[in-house]
Amino acid sequence: MTLPQPRVLAPGDTIGILGGGQLGRMLALAAAKLGLHGHIYAPEPDSPAFDVVRRSTRADYSDEGALDRFARDVDVVTYEFENVPAFAATFLAARVPVLPDPKALAVTQDRFPEKSFVAGLSIPTAQFASVEDFTGLEAAARTLGRPCVLKCRRFGYDGKGQVIIRDGADLAAAWREVGEAPSILETFVPFEREISVIAARSLDGRVECFDVCENEHRNHILKVTRVPARIPPALAGKARAIADKIAVAFDYVGVLAVEMFVVRERGEETVLVNEIAPRVHNSGHWTLDGASVSQFEQHIRAVAGWPLMRPLRHGRIEMTNLIGTEVRDAAKLLIEPGASLHLYGKRSIQPGRKMGHVTRVFREGT
Ligand code: AMP
Repeated sequence: MTLPQPRVLAPGDTIGILGGGQLGRMLALAAAKLGLHGHIYAPEPDSPAFDVVRRSTRADYSDEGALDRFARDVDVVTYEFENVPAFAATFLAARVPVLPDPKALAVTQDRFPEKSFVAGLSIPTAQFASVEDFTGLEAAARTLGRPCVLKCRRFGYDGKGQVIIRDGADLAAAWREVGEAPSILETFVPFEREISVIAARSLDGRVECFDVCENEHRNHILKVTRVPARIPPALAGKARAIADKIAVAFDYVGVLAVEMFVVRERGEETVLVNEIAPRVHNSGHWTLDGASVSQFEQHIRAVAGWPLMRPLRHGRIEMTNLIGTEVRDAAKLLIEPGASLHLYGKRSIQPGRKMGHVTRVFREGT
């Protein structure tokens, strides 16, 4: 069966977005900026993205009737999260173009095919092994040595479903911690810093990368992104080339993020890929205020078949997430000169929940 093929959209056309969180919200706002409509599809009743679109569908990802009506109302479908159920992606792709291609979802939803895909492109990663059961874990831990990191293969995010196994640690406890679910074991990477590259690829195959971001996590959650990353230009070029290679290998259309570790090997800094996010990414939020085009607009341009912009950065940038109760201090940020505040409109504060972010742009000479 031939699937509907992507086409160049016109202003007034509608982009369907699966997922109603802050990423979907910011994608819909970017679509509106370009005269396109957004239609959000999400199961949660208080999805922050519902607030900013004219049309939305609140339904489960398994609801065929709702998916069919959604497909009829939109000109292209995209998504804000990588755990889109395969059923929904396949059902929609038979009716309307889905970009990026759901193949990228299938690979990145599971850490083992994801790492294998990256390694298959001759891009360095931590050493890794698939773990199906406890005996497999014992064998993998013997091969890879300690310290190592056990991560469940699916549905892990913000450090959930992962555990560091140090010398003397109990393997059985680690196995219980990942829910005794199929996992991967990786060597522990003694990284100097964590970086990410946000890349966009257009329908006609052009790739544009934003400047490399440096990411600081607290309690496994991204806290601060600083741009540019404190790495030599040659290494930044290498990191961008890796993201470009991954985007091309997926025949990707849209924005993706590649998270990497900077490590020192034999006195030289180099990068290892940790993870791919087939979507706009928290470490790219700075682009809303700190670049000539945002990651959200770049994604919308790509899935609409429009040209990408070569992004220009406005200065040195710092983006800080407002997590949980930190959002209560937002009033201070409203009056801080140069600070740009974004609140996601979430109904309730919960520990670890991303409630908003603030971007500070330090222009040359300030
Ligand atoms: P992930 O869920 O793979 O993005 O991992 C979350 C965080 O855990 C990363 O941002 C790192 O700070 C840390 N981490 C993940 N994998 C490793 C590893 N192999 N070695 C050291 N730290 C890791």
